[in-house]
Amino acid sequence: MLREYRAGEESVMKKALLENPQNTIDVLQKYQFTFHKRFGQNFLIDPHVLDKIISSAEITKEDAILEIGPGIGTMTQALSEAAGKVIAVEIDRHLMPILKETLEGYDNVRILWEDILKVDIGKLVREENGDQPIKVVANLPYNITTPVILGLLRSHAPINSITVMIQEEVADRIAAKAGTKEYGALTLAVNYYAVPYIVAYVPPNCFIPRPKVGSAVVRLTLREKPPVAVDNEELLFSIIRASFNQRRKTLVNGLYNASNLNFSKEDIRKAIKSLGKEEGIRGETLSLEEFADLSNYLNRKEE
Ligand code: SAH
Repeated sequence: MLREYRAGEESVMKKALLENPQNTIDVLQKYQFTFHKRFGQNFLIDPHVLDKIISSAEITKEDAILEIGPGIGTMTQALSEAAGKVIAVEIDRHLMPILKETLEGYDNVRILWEDILKVDIGKLVREENGDQPIKVVANLPYNITTPVILGLLRSHAPINSITVMIQEEVADRIAAKAGTKEYGALTLAVNYYAVPYIVAYVPPNCFIPRPKVGSAVVRLTLREKPPVAVDNEELLFSIIRASFNQRRKTLVNGLYNASNLNFSKEDIRKAIKSLGKEEGIRGETLSLEEFADLSNYLNRKEE
């Protein structure tokens, strides 16, 4: 049960929010905060999980951190203490008075009241940190996990690592091995830019309100360059998407039926043969290297 907030009570937030789990409840109660489903609001209330996120992000006082969705500022407080500075992007302006209180005295934090999907990440990082890479740390809103992660990776902004709380199911897809049912376009897209690592699985009772699904903390360490040489990146990702669009189909049919690809069955068969694979294989058996070879082969056909 939420405890009634009594007028005249001392500011609840003089100390870190997670020093006492009741603090979170008190502050939500004090400001009569209503959760917005469309903003994926599940606030972290477990200090051990918070510690795990902060330590796996390997933050030093030299670091600038981009936090997405600070919420009531739980993780922001910890980031502020560990890092040189924190830039937090939050969409929900109802959180303004709360963050004003919870982040009072945390002077190295700047909040941008924006939709992260509309922020030019490259520009923001350059403005805030010059050419120095930043680290992204967040408990992400789950309704936009994939576009946020892919947007960060494709921005080509100087980012060192991305340490985020996401749905367990998405974490498993990101870290999947070829040939498993979790392996797909997301696995390949993320692995092209970064090396993923699942730090921990986190149960729903570590949040208020509890999410309907299990969660996981993943750390993506960005690569200096992609692990494969690709002549045409756009073609590579079109081929990957087409291969997983129709999971039960063979690779030949998947690629032949894709509306944005224009290869003859003959060329597709030859490309698959060039990998030393059987004609009837399915996309989920190919590694990133094999997709790269396939795409380079077909790219030469296109010229
Ligand atoms: N970091 C906090 C809150 C996580 S909940 C904690 O761990 O307790 C997700 C947060 O992302 C919420 O604060 C929500 O308002 C915010 N959010 C949702 N969509 C967003 C968007 N498009 N851009 C920026 N922030 C967003």
